[in-house]
Amino acid sequence: MKIPFFFCQACNAPVSLKKYPCLCESCQDALILCPKLCSICGEMDCLTKSECLRPWRKSDTIEFYESQYLCSLRGYRVLRSWKNRSGLLFDRVILNWSSDRTQRLRDFAPDCIVPIPQSTRRARMLRSNPAEEISISLARQIRKPLVHALFKESSIRQSSLHTLDERAHHRMGFRTILEKPNGIRRALIVDDLMTTGNTLRQASEALNSGWGGRLRIGICVLGVRHLRRRTE
Ligand SMILES: [Zn+2]
Ligand SMILES: [Zn+2]
Repeated sequence: MKIPFFFCQACNAPVSLKKYPCLCESCQDALILCPKLCSICGEMDCLTKSECLRPWRKSDTIEFYESQYLCSLRGYRVLRSWKNRSGLLFDRVILNWSSDRTQRLRDFAPDCIVPIPQSTRRARMLRSNPAEEISISLARQIRKPLVHALFKESSIRQSSLHTLDERAHHRMGFRTILEKPNGIRRALIVDDLMTTGNTLRQASEALNSGWGGRLRIGICVLGVRHLRRRTE
């Protein structure tokens, strides 16, 4: 009889360390790599069409969207457990950026990486800020400095909004807390999960206006999650 000696960090199923470092096979399989995303709306279904299906989402500052994972319901659960548990081994599995992605980020050549801040209540609940952990791993990979430029002004508690859609459409304001460092023309804004991208567009607008405009911004997230997938 095979004796399991480790448990999956996401679902607690017994796993054999020989195969994967800290996830069971089905959680590992749930981490689907994300295809290229539309540079106008951040979704992936536009790329097979001749034009963007959501032109109203176009931002004057955002140049492209990049995501490591495409979240199915199960993949979302894996990323959510990573956010809550973290750990060196788990980090290494989750923050394993594929080379085509890091290459696209290098090609964009951002002068700095700006993580999306968490509201303090949420930061207290989690061990740390996942967006920051993701930013640190990216900063290491593409060798760009991390700049904590944004502050989140949350006037309303997320828990008082009931649906994802409500949350997505509620405007969470950001402002810059730092003068623009010299020589910055491009910034990469980083977050953990993107649903509609509204938060990221707001953060981009805040960064651009706070830093005097004419900033070119790229968005990089760990996973994209679509609203319609919620019914799966
Ligand atoms: Zn598992
Ligand atoms: Zn599009």
